[in-house]
Amino acid sequence: MRANARATRPEARLRSVLHRAGLRFRKNVRPIASIRCRPDVVFPRDRVAVFVDGCFWHGCPQHFRPPQSNAAYWDAKIARNMQRDKRNDEELSRAGWRVIRVWEHEDIDGAAHLVRAELMDRRACTQPGGRA
Ligand SMILES: [Zn+2]
Repeated sequence: MRANARATRPEARLRSVLHRAGLRFRKNVRPIASIRCRPDVVFPRDRVAVFVDGCFWHGCPQHFRPPQSNAAYWDAKIARNMQRDKRNDEELSRAGWRVIRVWEHEDIDGAAHLVRAELMDRRACTQPGGRA
């Protein structure tokens, strides 16, 4: 485990990689009124929302282990979180958004590539001559 990688939270590292790549985005905004969550990175015009999901709170299949005390409580709580994530994803896609979810354990540069590829894809599909 690299010490540097732990020093900054993964969503902050993703934002910084995207920003250095010249991409501009919002954070801490709700993409649509019907959901209460705030994705870590939001591209309002492209309607792309990126979540960096913590392995514990979002139930990463590789890393989530319930704490030994109150295991049943934690299992239920994390299961509810995962259902909420799924509902939010569905709401967003119904509203025409593309949701990208990245696990906090994933490679940040790889995640940034994925985001850029999705943006290019969506921008290629919109009419030419959009805002400069
Ligand atoms: Zn994980």
